Amino acid sequence: MSRTERGRAFQRRMPPSARRHIFLRQRVLGPAREAVVNDDRTEVADAAAMSDEIKRLAREMGAEAVGIAAYDPRLRFTDAAERAHRFVIVFGISMAYDCMIDIGPRSQAEVHRVYYQLDDLAVRLTQQIGAYGYSACAQANLGDLPLPAYGYLAGIGELGKHGSLISPELGSSFRLAAVSTDLPLQVDGPRDHGIDEVCASCNVCTRFCPGDAIKPEKQEVNGVLRWHVDTPACQPWFYEMHGCKICLMVCPLNARGRLKEAFQAVADDIRAARDAAGIVRLIEQRQRAEGGEQGSFNAVPPRPPSPDPRP
Ligand code: SF4
Ligand code: SF4
Repeated sequence: MSRTERGRAFQRRMPPSARRHIFLRQRVLGPAREAVVNDDRTEVADAAAMSDEIKRLAREMGAEAVGIAAYDPRLRFTDAAERAHRFVIVFGISMAYDCMIDIGPRSQAEVHRVYYQLDDLAVRLTQQIGAYGYSACAQANLGDLPLPAYGYLAGIGELGKHGSLISPELGSSFRLAAVSTDLPLQVDGPRDHGIDEVCASCNVCTRFCPGDAIKPEKQEVNGVLRWHVDTPACQPWFYEMHGCKICLMVCPLNARGRLKEAFQAVADDIRAARDAAGIVRLIEQRQRAEGGEQGSFNAVPPRPPSPDPRP
């Protein structure tokens, strides 16, 4: 099956709530992403106080982690227009962990519910900034900006070996959105949360990835030494398993912060599954027990893992 055909089949298998949330994001929230700018501007004398106020507003609207990065025109997707913005407010919302461990329609519905919440929050925050008299634009996932990079620059977390941002408060199971703006703010900047160090000596996501897509060592990508996920190796599993996310689900850093209890409830099952083939079997069994999919994930057999260079 070609990549396009796989993508179409992936969309057709989405649960109805996921399709509704995609519709709302694309057709309702997307057109409202630019701030309506008030001519009656509120001058900002104290950027630090304004930053606190914006973070308070974001949290009041549902953000569970929030930080501010400097806008860098070089750090945007190639087809996105450069903006005269100076700051990017980045925020995250966690996914319900008991949904995430399903790796099926329920987890996919949860992902799109959270993306909808994030876009809704981004549009509301954007319009609040517009009311202060400043330009702002809601930045959704797969929009103009690489959100994990800005999340790192805003101090929300660090890039994990599985290629997603890890937050000390939200572990691996959360999603991001942002607002870019020229409202005067104070940059938080990247923070060392000790996560990169944990990833250097942990190999859990590499071991459980059915596509063997997560490299155990950092690779040089575009001149930067960083954790790397082999996207073509991930894709068949991503499409086959409703977005997969096994790597996010098994990450032991979920045991910190707000997902702690939910993660600990399944930690023994994850340990007992041992590896990628074991976790795929476990997910298939759960699907069958719920009367859902026919345990069809073996359409792509798990690849044997790469040799682990660590003892
Ligand atoms: S599973 Fe381990 S190596 Fe992978 S992202 Fe989480 S902490 Fe890092
Ligand atoms: S989504 Fe699945 S296949 Fe892709 S990197 Fe994560 S565990 Fe591997």
